[in-house]
Amino acid sequence: MADFKTVKDRVNKYVINSYSRFDVGLESGKGAQAQGCGKSYIDFGSGIGVNALGYCDDGWVKAVSEQAAKLSHCSNLYYAPVQGELAELLCNASGFASAFFCNSGAEANEGAIKLARKYSFDKYGKGRATVVTLKNSFHGRTVTTLAATGQEVFHNYFFPFTEGFKLAEANNFESIKAACTDDVCAVLLESVQGEGGVLPLEQDFVTKVAELCREKDMLLMFDEVQTGIGRTGKFFGYEHFGVKADVVSCAKALGGGLPMGAVLCREGLQNVLNAGTHATTFGGNPIVCAGAVEVVKRVSQNGFLDNVNEKARYIRAHLSKIDGIGEIRGMGLMIGFEIEGLEAKKVAALAVENGLLILTAKTALRMLPPLTITKDEIDRGLAILNKTVKELKGKGVNA
Ligand SMILES: *Cc1c(COP(=O)(O)O)cnc(C)c1O
Repeated sequence: MADFKTVKDRVNKYVINSYSRFDVGLESGKGAQAQGCGKSYIDFGSGIGVNALGYCDDGWVKAVSEQAAKLSHCSNLYYAPVQGELAELLCNASGFASAFFCNSGAEANEGAIKLARKYSFDKYGKGRATVVTLKNSFHGRTVTTLAATGQEVFHNYFFPFTEGFKLAEANNFESIKAACTDDVCAVLLESVQGEGGVLPLEQDFVTKVAELCREKDMLLMFDEVQTGIGRTGKFFGYEHFGVKADVVSCAKALGGGLPMGAVLCREGLQNVLNAGTHATTFGGNPIVCAGAVEVVKRVSQNGFLDNVNEKARYIRAHLSKIDGIGEIRGMGLMIGFEIEGLEAKKVAALAVENGLLILTAKTALRMLPPLTITKDEIDRGLAILNKTVKELKGKGVNA
């Protein structure tokens, strides 16, 4: 068993310190439980929405290790059967026509932005390259996806950012209408703003934006990096709104723990990114695809999403009993809330000490438990959260 201080000191010495980390060292995990450096945890974070099937799911481990022993990497100069298998499964599960595979959420958004700009260029020529995104959004950490991200805190140091992005206000149709001038080729939305604090879009807003996009031939694109692959109780979060999307980006949960992103596009857009216009060395790597095949198969199995929705109701009902809890936001197993009088970061830090891995998003506590979490694990996690809140409230009274 590793000694936590040794682990921490070595990481901090040799890894660039761009992360603020919890005092947690992880060495192994199964389902929604993880262990490391002599401690055990219930995990309500899934490695930030990645471990949709939990840690080291049997089917996923088998799929990945068998593929690793068969063909590990072959580049996109050749055809790998498992890549086609995954693309077909994804298209069938989502109703899209075609997929581009990459390695992260930011990269998927870059791909979506490139697709939108090329679509518009092919049809209308230059001068229609602007993408409208929302205030308080999060789309990634590359220079371009930072430009797309609507949060001031991220717009520092790295100037100049990529041109061609305009911000509108979420759930304010007039604001988006005003932003959608003749130079706009696409609108990019998160169905639930994740990093922004777990804030869902409203039905009326989404319906109207979808209509405006049709009217002006702008692509309606959803960043489903956090909300995708069953997280909200539908395969993609935007499906809750009953609109048709032109393009969707996804990543996080897609690979079930391996780095993978994808851009999916509707019928009619598959030839926009033609040969030579977009590529990535590792994109659609066979091992990663094998893991994703298992994830997509399982999430699209009959009853899987019903089960996610049932667990979501269960966890939300029990959460509501926590002392001082505010509105419980989000959709499905993407859950955000505040606790009156307590700072989210402090709750998360003490919860972790008490054995519960939980996330924050701005002022909110955020939970993205594995979609396969059991009721027993939910109960144990909530008990730790409850205890943590009581401890913090107790301190408040004594202070
Ligand atoms: C996490 C996230 C990203 C960035 O994904 P990376 O894999 O970290 O590049 C983009 N958009 C949303 C909505 C996210 O939650």
